[in-house]
Amino acid sequence: MEELFMRLLDLSGQQFGRLTVIRRDGTAKNGNATWLCKCSCGNLVTVDSYRLRHGITVSCGCYRRDISKARLTKDPRTRKQIGNATNLPLVNGSNVAALTKISSRNISGVIGVSFDKRSGKWAARLFYHGRYVLNQTFSDFNDAVAARRQAEKQLNQKEDLKTVEESAEG
Ligand SMILES: [Zn+2]
Repeated sequence: MEELFMRLLDLSGQQFGRLTVIRRDGTAKNGNATWLCKCSCGNLVTVDSYRLRHGITVSCGCYRRDISKARLTKDPRTRKQIGNATNLPLVNGSNVAALTKISSRNISGVIGVSFDKRSGKWAARLFYHGRYVLNQTFSDFNDAVAARRQAEKQLNQKEDLKTVEESAEG
């Protein structure tokens, strides 16, 4: 009978969440046995048997951190602030997406392409980082649109590359 009782209380080798119990490690102030556990992340922690068996403690603390990190990246507002590969970074405090909104003065209906009355041609422009990365006029509207699209694509690729390089450093 006593043997069974001991076995039930011996948590050695048992797994609770991310924690694997290594051995008994003292007694808590409340009289509960405490156990030395190894977390899946490699940390060693001493946990009260009550907290282990009731699933109150499931890691060294890294589980909670992972959860809050996951919540952070799931939150659309946070994600917007962090930015992702498809979002161009902030330029002088304003997002490129906002800069490229179709203005009411733009009669072409295509972002970055407008009709230049003086030359009688279609102007394709892309203003970025304080300078024009594209500023050309075309007699054919479609050529202007194609040029603008091409410039956007190059800019996006450049930004993607930058993002990759930055994250590799960090
Ligand atoms: Zn851990």
